[in-house]
Amino acid sequence: MDIAIKDGKIVEKIDERNAEVVDASAMTVMPGGVDIHCHIAGAEVNSGRLLRPEDHVKDVEVKTALTRSGVGYSIPSTFTTGYRYSRMGYTTIMNPSMPPLEARHTHEELDDTPMVDKATYPLLGDWWFVLEHLRDGLIEECAAHVAWMMSATKGYAIKIVNPGGLEAWGFGRNVESLDDSVPYFNITPREIVRGLCKINKLLNLPHTIHVHTNNLGKPGNYITALETMKCVEDLADGNRPVIHITHCQFCAYKGSDWRNMGSGAEEIAKYVNHHSHVTLDMGQVIFTDTTTMTADGPFQYGLYNLTGNKWVNHDVETETSSGIVPFRYRRTSAVHATQWSIGLELALLIKDPWKIYMTTDHPNGGPFTAYPNIIAWLMSRAARKKTLDKTSKKARRKSLLPSIDRELSLYEIAITTRAGQAKALNLTQKGHLGTGADADVAIYNINPEQIDPSKKYKMIKKAFRRAVYTIKSGKIVVKNGQIVKPVFGKTFWIDAKTSLPREVNDDIKQKFREYWTVEYENYPIPDNFLHVPAPIPIKAEV
Ligand SMILES: [Zn+2]
Repeated sequence: MDIAIKDGKIVEKIDERNAEVVDASAMTVMPGGVDIHCHIAGAEVNSGRLLRPEDHVKDVEVKTALTRSGVGYSIPSTFTTGYRYSRMGYTTIMNPSMPPLEARHTHEELDDTPMVDKATYPLLGDWWFVLEHLRDGLIEECAAHVAWMMSATKGYAIKIVNPGGLEAWGFGRNVESLDDSVPYFNITPREIVRGLCKINKLLNLPHTIHVHTNNLGKPGNYITALETMKCVEDLADGNRPVIHITHCQFCAYKGSDWRNMGSGAEEIAKYVNHHSHVTLDMGQVIFTDTTTMTADGPFQYGLYNLTGNKWVNHDVETETSSGIVPFRYRRTSAVHATQWSIGLELALLIKDPWKIYMTTDHPNGGPFTAYPNIIAWLMSRAARKKTLDKTSKKARRKSLLPSIDRELSLYEIAITTRAGQAKALNLTQKGHLGTGADADVAIYNINPEQIDPSKKYKMIKKAFRRAVYTIKSGKIVVKNGQIVKPVFGKTFWIDAKTSLPREVNDDIKQKFREYWTVEYENYPIPDNFLHVPAPIPIKAEV
């Protein structure tokens, strides 16, 4: 069918005589790609860049008449990040972990990431105000603070990382279960997750709480992942999800240590197949050299001990911790190959593609530029077998992949790489090509009537690596895998209107003076600080 575009939107009809025509016959047309979780901007990402000159030198983006130069394989510089996403047909990307105190730096880098619309999630699960308010049962007051934080930091969703564990890490400790007490705060991870889930609903935020579970990256942690999903089951709202478990591969491990570590994908898939209050993204591992980075400081300390690699450890005042460690996933390592298998097992065993989305938790599982490889694995049993056959014998014995016949269709790929992600984010103008949608379109050189992706997976990989066309807000920005028009994307942020005062009172200002190195007035980022601000007004129930 014909798709008509006018003024950056998809419309019912246009005057064909004056229209520019893009001939996409015998090709695959999809909405622009949407990435729900990729670390691309801010202090954490930039520290990763500084830590790894070896990551720059091996991957150089040359300047052209239209584009800027850049460097970086697993943590490319900002402009390069935008170009690379755009070349693959992506038009919207979400930066998932922003310490509120570092919001300014994050937005400066997001503004320098061209070609895509974007947003960012402030880390709120270990913020002192949240811990104290939830401990004291002050849900509505806490909601008003979260609303203030969203607008002050120009954030989009509530990010929770290892709830309680980041604060515990400030004392060199961690939490080990949902019911462990957070030192000095008399609150548990379960109470944090449930409290913020309720607040998320009170504020009518478009996305659910976005959760990186406790015990991430540890054998046996699939139980914690299941318990985290279960702990908000009673807060479910009909069929609307209330929790997103991010990079689920990293929390789907069985076993008691690394020697007997195995896949918990079956148990997690079974639970998700029977419940509708949860969505997930994969966190797929790629066999490559990459850079791990997360607000989960204690996890990164563990990884540092395991690898002996260089390490950044950082504590962002009263808000969050963070850590960075370079990492290489090897085919020959039984653990790494099992991780690789688990990501795919989850995506294939969870029946409904609207529930699980394709990510690598860039750059944690591998760089986003590997997405075409994942698409090939999801669409082709032969592609999976080919990689699996090269992995460690022990991992092959444990892998569930040989028993899984499922091969995703192009429709299912469109859901797991854009439509599902847009729906989970409630970006109603993204992820589809219906009238009224943003005119973000990706055209790939795949003739669905002639190509069998199961056999021709190499062609699939090639096609998704270089879009024939990427159209952003109605403009052709990529042609044959080359940037032909650099553009700036919008930054979405949530402007939640509350009836409770959203401003911070004198008590809290006093606290800032006591505990923070900066004054409260340093937090708020004015609208005009952003290159193309796109506030989303929302009426809260408090
Ligand atoms: Zn992440």
